[in-house]
Amino acid sequence: MIKVSMLFELQKVLDEELECKNDLKRLTRNVQELQKKVENEEKGYLLAKAKWNKKQTDLEDLSMQLATFEEDRKKYEKELYSPKNSNPKFLKDMENKITEIKRNIDAHEEKILQMMEDAETLKKDAEKKKSTLEKIQQTFQEHSQILESTKQESKILLETLSQKKEKIENQLSEEEMEIFQKAYLLQNKAVALVTMPDACCSACKFQVPHQVADAGRKNPNELYYCENCRRILFFNA
Ligand SMILES: [Zn+2]
Repeated sequence: MIKVSMLFELQKVLDEELECKNDLKRLTRNVQELQKKVENEEKGYLLAKAKWNKKQTDLEDLSMQLATFEEDRKKYEKELYSPKNSNPKFLKDMENKITEIKRNIDAHEEKILQMMEDAETLKKDAEKKKSTLEKIQQTFQEHSQILESTKQESKILLETLSQKKEKIENQLSEEEMEIFQKAYLLQNKAVALVTMPDACCSACKFQVPHQVADAGRKNPNELYYCENCRRILFFNA
């Protein structure tokens, strides 16, 4: 006689243990992936911000150059219209300088307009990236908290399960433990409940032959294996 019902209890404890550990692994992986995402978004945002800052600096430089040109133009115009100056060569020279500087001013103004547009686009891009980063940081925080509390809960649960396991194992004979462990090595599931009334193995859904099902129900502490998946069958009589 084998205490199949106790083997089934042991299986349930191991199932719970595995589920708890898998949950923890899944949550940990999730948090690690989120952390990577945060790092990537952070890089993207910093790069976009740097591009925008650079464009602003360029814009300031160009505006300063433009201001210098404007000052020079005023200076030359003052010379040109001053009654003190009457030398025709000097006046012609001033006129040429003014024409050239006006051309420079026009070119600079056009460049500045284009740069302002570019800066606006870069600013929007940086703002968008910042908002994406903040959202993903928030999600990361939330999931980290969930992971931390799950870790605490799992620790308690695993301790309880470990005690339960010990208690069951103490009541099982060496032979029973061997039978269990041999079957457990197959697929982390040594014992499968036979569902009723259809008499199927709950692990692989294989239909248990009528004879076996009848015998199993009458003697639930005899050892029966599923013909399909080789697990120990538990008939919950
Ligand atoms: Zn089966």
